[in-house]
Amino acid sequence: MTMTADNVQPVSDPAATPPRLLAAGHSADALAHLSAFGPRRGLRRADLERELERSGLTGRGGAAFPAFRKLAATTGRRAPVVIGNGSEGEPWSWKDAVLLANAPHLVLDGLLTASEALGAARTVLYLHAAAVAPVAAAVAERSDAGRVELIEAADGFVAGEASAVVNALQTGRAVPLDRTRRLSESGLDGRPTLLHNVETLAQLALVDRYGGDWFRSVGDPERPGTRLVTVTGDVAAEGVFEVPTDATVLDIVARAGGEARLAAGVLLGGYHGRWIAPSETGAAPGESAGAGVVHVLGPQRCGLAVTAAIVQELAAASARQCGPCLFGLSAMADRFAELAAGRLAPQAAAELARLAEAVDGRGSCHHPDGAARLVRSALRVFARDIHAHAEGRCLRSAR
Ligand code: SF4
Repeated sequence: MTMTADNVQPVSDPAATPPRLLAAGHSADALAHLSAFGPRRGLRRADLERELERSGLTGRGGAAFPAFRKLAATTGRRAPVVIGNGSEGEPWSWKDAVLLANAPHLVLDGLLTASEALGAARTVLYLHAAAVAPVAAAVAERSDAGRVELIEAADGFVAGEASAVVNALQTGRAVPLDRTRRLSESGLDGRPTLLHNVETLAQLALVDRYGGDWFRSVGDPERPGTRLVTVTGDVAAEGVFEVPTDATVLDIVARAGGEARLAAGVLLGGYHGRWIAPSETGAAPGESAGAGVVHVLGPQRCGLAVTAAIVQELAAASARQCGPCLFGLSAMADRFAELAAGRLAPQAAAELARLAEAVDGRGSCHHPDGAARLVRSALRVFARDIHAHAEGRCLRSAR
């Protein structure tokens, strides 16, 4: 299924938190946006930093770094650059595309507020090809967004990694940089660079309007607010949903018409995420939420076969710059294929655990760490499947 602005599911359960990011409805133009949210305040830097700290807002692109710390860290002698990252390279995520199609003005508000607060020299939106048109239409509707540079993102799983975005904008090569300095000190054009996922910017726009206390009035006190999740897999209606951050996996899957307790497993956070067992779905995703991907593996699908295919894709996505990533991930892909095929399954499982240790933290970016996390979780959650495969059986009828 291809996710579009038309099949985003609005929050319709009256017991659920009212939508925040999607409160202006489908494909909101400037008028609908202003009717729903009112004008932005455009807080000055110190005030914005204070309200962001009070809000507890964390990044929605995967790393969940506190937004106020990122703002505070963006310093230097030269005027900074602010980048909104809407490249969304994660294969099972459409939440940024849905946000940009439905609430482009909220993203622009957040981007412009951050840019003005920092006195930015450049203000860039780096967008998946599908998102360029709705954002360009929104820019054309407003008088304050003329300086925003809209740049189409490169395709590719690692192309959305923060330093890969800066590299793509600087050199045209969308691969991570081997970095010794933080982007907040020296990024695009050698300037201090603040890079946020577009959902984080939309959330920042809400903090700017309504303040930190309002923001943290819903959700998990440790990571407050709402978040967008993309629910895919064996559910009645795949889609993007806005949920409070304390919504359980069970509830999130139910929004899409699925039953998490009956699943073979649920993948949280996408290809760099981790599998959880059905018995663990009564809790919120917490720090495993990543960029909001929730993939449901129905009881008839084999978690080993699905994970083997993902690890193969992760190995192919390596930017081939770091030895442990280049060689380690392809070895992991080979061993996982053996595991899924039932060849030497116990030995392959032991070797995979060893390889996960060997690649973890050994790349210039977090690509190998994400692969190691996925593999370790699969070995744990699908342990019974590994035994069955070793005996030449599969517990699931479909692979
Ligand atoms: S860890 Fe892998 S993806 Fe990341 S920079 Fe190194 S080779 Fe590229």
